Amino acid sequence: MKSETLEINEPSCPRTANRPSEFPEIAGSAENTIAIPPGACLLCGSSEISWIQRIKGYTIVDCRRCGLRYLRDRIGEDAVMRYYREAYFHPGVDPSSGYEDYFLIRKEREKTFRLYLSKVLPHLRRFENVLDIGCGAGYFLSVADRRFTRVFGIDVSPEALSRVNIACELRCGEFRSGLYPAGFADVIMLCDVIEHVYHLREFLGEAARVLHPDGVLCLVTPNRTSVLGRISGRRNISYKLPEHVSFFDPQSIARALGEAGLEIIDRHSCGQYATVDYVARRLGAAVFKKRNVLPLPGFIRRRTFYVNTGSMLILARRRSGEQTTA
Ligand SMILES: [Zn+2]
Repeated sequence: MKSETLEINEPSCPRTANRPSEFPEIAGSAENTIAIPPGACLLCGSSEISWIQRIKGYTIVDCRRCGLRYLRDRIGEDAVMRYYREAYFHPGVDPSSGYEDYFLIRKEREKTFRLYLSKVLPHLRRFENVLDIGCGAGYFLSVADRRFTRVFGIDVSPEALSRVNIACELRCGEFRSGLYPAGFADVIMLCDVIEHVYHLREFLGEAARVLHPDGVLCLVTPNRTSVLGRISGRRNISYKLPEHVSFFDPQSIARALGEAGLEIIDRHSCGQYATVDYVARRLGAAVFKKRNVLPLPGFIRRRTFYVNTGSMLILARRRSGEQTTA
């Protein structure tokens, strides 16, 4: 039986979306950054670094202890969470921030998620519960709905959740300890989420606890060392600042998962389906800081194709016999 519960954990969640121009910490420059105590590694907590670089006015460092590359001058958590709740899915002053047209790309996102799900299904033994953390408007949930008994989503944006168009159980708020029972999910989806997370160790530990012993965690995140990442240098799509706070490569994501009691069982290089229009505007935004750089006719702009963005699709399982604690 499917429930139609929409559970709002945070009654203060505003229903009216603001525009990113009201979020100078995000839409402006690094000068607006509210630095929280700088330097601490998101994974191991160490402040020792082995590499440092300034990119777009922000300081990016490598942790000497665990190797994670992370953003050192992060904006305050309250400010960034308010941005995700209220403005992330709306047009930005800086067109490279957030998703300017997230609600117009349902068809392409669902096609992308069908591809991702096809990588997960061969590894599954159970098809009961799916949990999509950072589910947005439920595009993955729509795709998974036909294959699983129950689908669950959680996101901080009430605006995005209000656009979920299937019967499922939704929560509005952050993914925190104790929201879901231990061993509850046969699939946990983390698509383009983990690079935003401030408390990496706790977050992955909780995901591991919620994952069924036979379940699979599917994680998609930019690979800063992909071919595209390497040739794009400082314009590497991993460095979407200040939204992204960790910049993973295959080694650091394996380490982060390993510390949470998870082991990688499969990995793929991946991308997404997109219209010519979408790619032209994202490229224009990233490279030229303008939305419309290519004067293409409408019938070409609407064409859909697959773009390998150099992201990593990682499938992980709990290490056998592992007792996970968040
Ligand atoms: Zn570290």
